[in-house]
Amino acid sequence: MNLRPEEISSIIKEQIKNYENKVELTDTGSVLKVGDGIASVYGLENAMAGELLEFPGEVYGMALNLEEDMVGAVMLGSDQGIKEGDIVKRTGNVVSVPVGEALVGRVVNALGQPIDGKGPINTDKFRPVESEATGIIARKSVHQPLETGIKAIDAMVPIGKGQRELVIGDRQTGKTSICIDAILNQKGKDVICIYVAIGQKRSTVAQLVSTLEKGGAMDYTIVVSASASESAPLQFLAPYAGTAMGEEFMFEGKHVLIVYDDLTKHAVAYREMSLLLKRPPGREAYPGDVFYLHSRLLERSAKLSDELGGGSITSLPIIETQGGDVSAYIPTNVISITDGQIYLEPELFYAGVRPAVNPGISVSRVGGSAQIKSMKKVAGPLKLLYSQYKELAAFAQFGSDLDEDTKKRLAQGERIVEVLKQGEHQPIDVQNQVMIIHAVTNDLLADIPVNNIQRFEKEMYEFINANYPEIGKKILESGDFTKELTNAINEFKKKFVIEA
Ligand code: ATP
Ligand code: MG
Repeated sequence: MNLRPEEISSIIKEQIKNYENKVELTDTGSVLKVGDGIASVYGLENAMAGELLEFPGEVYGMALNLEEDMVGAVMLGSDQGIKEGDIVKRTGNVVSVPVGEALVGRVVNALGQPIDGKGPINTDKFRPVESEATGIIARKSVHQPLETGIKAIDAMVPIGKGQRELVIGDRQTGKTSICIDAILNQKGKDVICIYVAIGQKRSTVAQLVSTLEKGGAMDYTIVVSASASESAPLQFLAPYAGTAMGEEFMFEGKHVLIVYDDLTKHAVAYREMSLLLKRPPGREAYPGDVFYLHSRLLERSAKLSDELGGGSITSLPIIETQGGDVSAYIPTNVISITDGQIYLEPELFYAGVRPAVNPGISVSRVGGSAQIKSMKKVAGPLKLLYSQYKELAAFAQFGSDLDEDTKKRLAQGERIVEVLKQGEHQPIDVQNQVMIIHAVTNDLLADIPVNNIQRFEKEMYEFINANYPEIGKKILESGDFTKELTNAINEFKKKFVIEA
């Protein structure tokens, strides 16, 4: 830090003046330099990392770089009115956000202040944005399903409560849609959802809120938004703020689903902030501690033990890749922190296979133990048949005369692909998912043309649930449904009208 002579002399004069007054000096400081949302503050010797600092005009900052007699702070508001020599006060508190029931249904910024024009948030509960993750003893293994309502995910990459599942893919491959659908699917399931938008356009966030509203999901959802037009420190804070809000519910024994959309932009905001704070850049110009940035965030997702109320935070961090490159710095970091990833593939997306989940490299390392019995029963064969089909299809495109068995397996594979397609914002209940997967894996759809399958699926759900409601119940409760379901599907097939 290069100080000009007049600054040094003013500091010395100040020190002499306040010589007797050491105590007071430690609690206030003065601005040496301000710009780009970063302030260097002289003094504040006792400031804590992450402490909220008060600048004149009710502007706040957060202490980040603690040096011997200087603090590097990021401004949480505009730095326009701040000038050299301004007094900065310690608040004694680390940056906190309001938490609690009052936030549900609201859209707030990274500081938990409302930005939806629906008036103030009435809560007297606050939590620090950064807090230590729950220890191992306080946790229990993931064992309850958190269904997304998306067939390709619930069957092949199942997510359990307390799990961290990365959603990764190039731009415009349906990453956000998957997470929004997962939120829509929590309706009536006693899960509080938190959607954290980082570095997105305001219009995009507004659209998304309206989708959630239309789906009735704002009744149990909080949206935390630090849009692209907001400062890097606010974008940096947003996911921690959202997590603090989630923790309040988790420690009350409730279940929380949190979406971080996306952590690529979060890392970029952190890089910007760190470079301005003059932290040395490392690989790909990210500071050395960028891994810690995301690990300390995602470690806060947990499934608590029964003694602690059994609450959970399940997280869906999103990462955007460039040209499908999952080996870049930030993607590899987050892959190693999470319990699995849903990889979305542009080729599939453009070919109309949506959601574009690549079944080969998408994995869930813990969710399988959280699937309901019936889903486990049908998902095993599904994964096997699907991967066999993919191999066969790659091979068969070169051959002209295929034997009957190969043809049959190709036809079944095409139907599997068709069954796993699903429109946006149409989550499907798990018992229905089991019905259609049972149908396709048992080759009951062999005589239904591929272009009729989506209509077949819809009408089949209606038929079975209207005429044999006990089947859905059995799927949910016992896992003992095979024969009855096969019979019901065969009965429905007689009624189904095939269209050209
Ligand atoms: P970005 O990189 O811009 O954040 P993204 O990966 O989050 O994009 P989305 O915004 O979710 O992608 O989706 C991209 C587009 O694809 C949107 O127009 C969306 O409506 C459409 N889309 C997503 N999922 C589906 C689906 N299952 N069926 C049909 N269209 C879909
Ligand atoms: Mg998106």
